[in-house]
Amino acid sequence: METIRVNLGSRSYNIDVQAGGLANIGDWAAAFPVEKKVLVVADENTASLFGEQAAASLQQVGFTVTLAVLPPGEVAKSLAQADVLYARAIVAGLDRNCPILALGGGVVGDLAGFVAATYLRGVPFLQVPTTLLSQVDSSVGGKVAVNHPLGKNLIGAFYQPLGVLIDPQTLLTLPEREFASGMAEVIKYGLIADAEFCRVLAAQAEVIGRRDLQQMAQIVAHCCQMKAAVVERDEQDLGERMLLNFGHTAGHAIEAAGNFERFTHGEGVALGMIVAARLSELQGLVPAGTLQTVRDLVAAYGLPTMATGLNPADLIGFMGSDKKREGSRLRWILLAGLGQAKIQSGINSNQVEEALQAILTVE
Ligand code: NAD
Ligand code: MG
Repeated sequence: METIRVNLGSRSYNIDVQAGGLANIGDWAAAFPVEKKVLVVADENTASLFGEQAAASLQQVGFTVTLAVLPPGEVAKSLAQADVLYARAIVAGLDRNCPILALGGGVVGDLAGFVAATYLRGVPFLQVPTTLLSQVDSSVGGKVAVNHPLGKNLIGAFYQPLGVLIDPQTLLTLPEREFASGMAEVIKYGLIADAEFCRVLAAQAEVIGRRDLQQMAQIVAHCCQMKAAVVERDEQDLGERMLLNFGHTAGHAIEAAGNFERFTHGEGVALGMIVAARLSELQGLVPAGTLQTVRDLVAAYGLPTMATGLNPADLIGFMGSDKKREGSRLRWILLAGLGQAKIQSGINSNQVEEALQAILTVE
């Protein structure tokens, strides 16, 4: 088992990465100073895959378990579903020392965390992320949220969990596309912070693509370590934490231009990293060839490298509706080298349009 400590003063916690760890979820949860009555939140998929095993393990160490099952997908991250969970917590008689445990991907984690942050002004929160994206990204750093009809993640809080348990074995049932989408965020960490990790990801794509458990445990732990280091220095997202948005400026626009149907978040990020790499070249921050390195890395994990058919003006519009005027200046997270990122202001939208050609026009 590998343990990553997230140092945030009195809100510090451990991330335990352990293949097969889910079987011992009861012992893990019982080690926290909580009452033995837990609300386990899952979605239909994670409930049927892991719900029974988790509940049995928790019951074995004396927990009374209430299992709340959400519909799968982003729609569940709503105030309406939060309300359903509040009702389950109240009816089950959860008091301030009873934990809420998220057993699922980022949707379950964000929603359950939001409910944990607000129910009775905050109850203990335990995270057991089961998608690659949630293991390397959303379960680290304490951002919890629900969506509003007018926008994603608009209602939320910073609320750190008491602990995170990651079992890479859960990745074995993940659909291929979800796995690849998580890999986009893994690649992101390499590109912004660790050139050597980029080389490992390039060299080991085949083994990692097979989800070799030992490899995955190492990769997940390494990514958690990198995100934890950033979060420790900038918990509230006021500075350095913004670097984690590398690939996300164009990525979000690509997701939106595809009506959030054509591309998953990770696919948008993969394409967005290609655009950002090209822009970094155009800005003279990285040597020519960096674009190709990023493209190859993304392609090695079955992620898209082209988004033909999208309109550059539309994409720039989605990047900031009031910023598309000629001569307007945008702020981007760019590469300053392989494994190094920086915030660059004063980017001209004409240059963004040129960089977008990297994913729009076949050479
Ligand atoms: P998700 O939770 O919807 O999971 C994706 C799909 O995989 C779902 O259908 C789910 O039921 C299924 N699934 C989960 N685990 C599985 C397993 N082990 N085997 C088979 N199927 C499984 O999506 P996600 O990609 O995990 O998370 C996306 C969410 O995370 C978004 O809402 C995003 O806003 C949020 N997010 C939050 C942060 C943060 O810092 N809080 C960071 C990044 C993303
Ligand atoms: Mg992301």
